[in-house]
Amino acid sequence: MLSTYPLICISICESNCESIARAIRDAGKHDGLFEIRLDCLAADALKNLDPLRALLAACPQPTIVTFRAADEGGRCDADYETRLRFWCEKDLELPANFVDLELDIAEQLIREAGPVDWSRVICSYHNHEEVPAELNQIFERLAATPARVLKVAVRVNDAIECLPIFDLLEHAKRAGREIIAIGMGAAGVATRILGPARGAFLTYASLADRRATAVGQIGIEELTSVYRVEKISSETVITGLVGRPVAHSISPQIHNAAFASSQTDAVYIPFEVRDLKAFFKQMVHPRTREIDWPLRGLSITAPHKTEVLAQLDWIEVAGREIGAVNTVVVEADRLCGYNTDASAFIAPLKNRLGPLNDARVAIIGAGGAASAALYSLKQENASATIFARDFRKAQQLADRWAVECRTIKQAVFAEFDVVVNATPLGTSGELENETPARAPQLRGARLAYELVYNPPVTQFLREAQAAGCETLAGLPMLLTQAARQFQLWTGRTANSDVMQAAAIKALNSDI
Ligand code: NDP
Repeated sequence: MLSTYPLICISICESNCESIARAIRDAGKHDGLFEIRLDCLAADALKNLDPLRALLAACPQPTIVTFRAADEGGRCDADYETRLRFWCEKDLELPANFVDLELDIAEQLIREAGPVDWSRVICSYHNHEEVPAELNQIFERLAATPARVLKVAVRVNDAIECLPIFDLLEHAKRAGREIIAIGMGAAGVATRILGPARGAFLTYASLADRRATAVGQIGIEELTSVYRVEKISSETVITGLVGRPVAHSISPQIHNAAFASSQTDAVYIPFEVRDLKAFFKQMVHPRTREIDWPLRGLSITAPHKTEVLAQLDWIEVAGREIGAVNTVVVEADRLCGYNTDASAFIAPLKNRLGPLNDARVAIIGAGGAASAALYSLKQENASATIFARDFRKAQQLADRWAVECRTIKQAVFAEFDVVVNATPLGTSGELENETPARAPQLRGARLAYELVYNPPVTQFLREAQAAGCETLAGLPMLLTQAARQFQLWTGRTANSDVMQAAAIKALNSDI
């Protein structure tokens, strides 16, 4: 059944009619429905709904009104009786295209056999804790009502739990019912982006990210400009980022911009994954997955870069030697793994310094990025020294790559050509003001190479500038590894200017 309504519903949660009118004006350029959350209205605005009635009647775009219960994510504490009375007494007559009634209210209205226009009812079930095991029974209860549209919005705590939600969309399609099925939370974002293409009646957006009315809800600008939800079909090639957390990543902005500029029918989605093995078995591997989707590739980030090795059929040499993979390509019924961090680390460095043989490089940190850097420095015959706070870890890594290691305490770097920050110190948020080395320690080194890319200028880079060092920021590495991923997934060269512009825009909007 093809809906004639827009695919995106902008949820508006404001305390009075003037603010609702302003929000509708702000969102005017988007071709969407508006969901007006009556539970967000202040008590006095709720008492007199005439201004709202006038506003709904004049609204140029279709509307849904909702009076969500607190235990279903609502903003006011009206109990069941109050909400039932609210709907029964007058407000089913609000001039909205749809009213969203919770399942318990809808079932009571059926028992009362009152005059309800079910052709404009969305009958909904919310669970803010989990995806309940009895999701199918809940669907049957919803489907037993004469409501035109059914809605299930449940909390997803691991991307694997998107699977029952996608199943529900299929089930509803077979049953000939219109449905909205949403996985709330960062791990459910895939259901919000792919829902309409998989048959959902609509997906929700907030007016701006900071005004989300449910966890994981994406801003309208991002949903339409970054993810291009209205252009996604069942044929659209799927790629994405697997990690935990993933919400902070700017990779969706970078990759989706590259897909858009090259007219590639593909989308890049964040997947917040806890159980990597289950995710790969049930949603990724072509021989075992339980979802029919054109998945082409994945970026892998912390904490899964090593664990992913066991899920792959083939791994390129760099990935095997480093013991970490950050890129997966689905090739027919096989999964192939690559490490694009290693080559991306070295390319910007060589661009800056030329050949690196015999260059003396200090690497601060002994984690995955340090390991990728050591692999590529070895290929270039550079000499590396690891500096780490945990000497035992540093020693293990040093033994593996046959390089020297020292403790970070009181380190001085004057003897080095390059000093690399391969720790998260300086990353936006709690670590932003931190640095693994101060100016006096860096004085005498030629170049400070920062792997942190957000913020674009870190404390480490400022210290290096103060010490008179040249500097190299982390963004070129991020963009270089993303460009190789694009090439691996599409077979084409990425437009690096487009990727860079998208990254800078995303980083600036983060600040
Ligand atoms: P890991 O968690 O694997 O390693 C981090 C390393 O930093 C560990 O050795 C850790 O030590 C050390 N570290 C953490 N906190 C401190 C501290 N307070 N003082 C000293 N050392 C510390 O992370 P990755 O190697 O994957 O990533 C490191 C950084 O590089 C991240 O910020 C990441 O965003 C960035 N990166 C950037 C890329 C790009 O494209 N620009 C690509 C890959 C990574 P310990 O083991 O003792 O905790």
